[in-house]
Amino acid sequence: MTSFDYSAFRGHFPALSATDNEQHAVYLDSAATALKPQALLEATQAYYAGSAATVHRSQHQAALRLTQRYESARQQVAQLLHAHSADSIVWTKGTTEAINLVAQSYLRPILQAGDEILVSEAEHHANLIPWLMVAEQCGANVVKIPVNQHGLPDLEQLPALLTSRTKLMALGQMSNVTGGCPDLRYALELAHQNGTPVMIDGAQGVVHHPLDVTALNVDFYAFSAHKMYGPTGLGVLYGKPEYLEQMHAWQGGGKMLTKAGFDGFIEQTIPHRFEAGTPNIAGVIGFSAVLEWLEHVDLAAAEAYCVSLAEQAEQQLSQIKGFISYRAPKSALLAFNIAGIHHSDLVALVAEQGVALRAGQHCAQPLIQALGITGSLRASFAPYNCPEDVTALVKAVNYALSILNDEDFA
Ligand code: PMP
Repeated sequence: MTSFDYSAFRGHFPALSATDNEQHAVYLDSAATALKPQALLEATQAYYAGSAATVHRSQHQAALRLTQRYESARQQVAQLLHAHSADSIVWTKGTTEAINLVAQSYLRPILQAGDEILVSEAEHHANLIPWLMVAEQCGANVVKIPVNQHGLPDLEQLPALLTSRTKLMALGQMSNVTGGCPDLRYALELAHQNGTPVMIDGAQGVVHHPLDVTALNVDFYAFSAHKMYGPTGLGVLYGKPEYLEQMHAWQGGGKMLTKAGFDGFIEQTIPHRFEAGTPNIAGVIGFSAVLEWLEHVDLAAAEAYCVSLAEQAEQQLSQIKGFISYRAPKSALLAFNIAGIHHSDLVALVAEQGVALRAGQHCAQPLIQALGITGSLRASFAPYNCPEDVTALVKAVNYALSILNDEDFA
């Protein structure tokens, strides 16, 4: 066990102390969305209760103040990712929208019939479907980087897969099923030697393994605020300025332009040209408060603690006959099955005991297929989980199995 003070961290999450909210008694579904800290609730409440104005439009004091906060939040995200400039940070609705933006605004104009998009088999659908869509629109092909027996993209195959037709490579920083992390440095290096830019899906990775987009020479990076204790409906696209500059707006509307008439319009500079319409101001302000709060958290110690909880859970559940783990080494996610039991049956009975897991295909059907299964349960650990949560999980699984294995019940 590490020295991380989980009870202090836990104290920031009202959902975990509310007596009338038994639903979150044992929350092991943070990979789907994280619980929300007091800092987010307070900042959001303050925005709606007090100074609810718009940004980049009106001239009154509240609007000017909020515009400043909105833009300084962009700066905070740039710092989080070690991006040189806040102009390379685009606010989106989430990871999904950020990847769609790159597919439609960067790739579509340059993609030609017969071109290829290299996508790993381990991807969440958010980092697969947008590429399939744009490939179909342009007559291009999506080529698979197969996973190895551990469910990790087999990067050894990259030299053969990268060709003069490869216009983009899409790779996840961390699998939302196994928690496995491919060697991004190696993958980026090979792709760049081939002149291919890389889109990295950081939806899971951003919380567990903060990444330096400048040091790693990342081209595009996306994540969602809600997985990082922030609000839903907000995400980030980082793009190298030289790419963003060459991309056109993908949605039209207010404030993405400098001049408009019936004969056309002139686009704004980056990043504003990608933020048509009134943005998620409350979300940005709330997320800014979360990022400020996180500055006081030892994220490395928090991660080591989460991994130790996942390890304990894996070790204790492995005592159960038929337990199969898909957990990558050093991961805070524990995807598992019990042989002969359907994941949906098990998760429902576990949920009845107040333990929140997720079961199914985790929006990663190709990976689930490659693992040779129809789905799995997944327990995901966050720094607000406590050792008692592991005990509750193991107890709930054992109890559920006692019902499912009961001859009379069967
Ligand atoms: N990629 C991964 C690896 C994810 O886990 C998720 C969320 N489940 C997404 C992409 C999509 O994120 P969002 O739904 O917030 O856009």
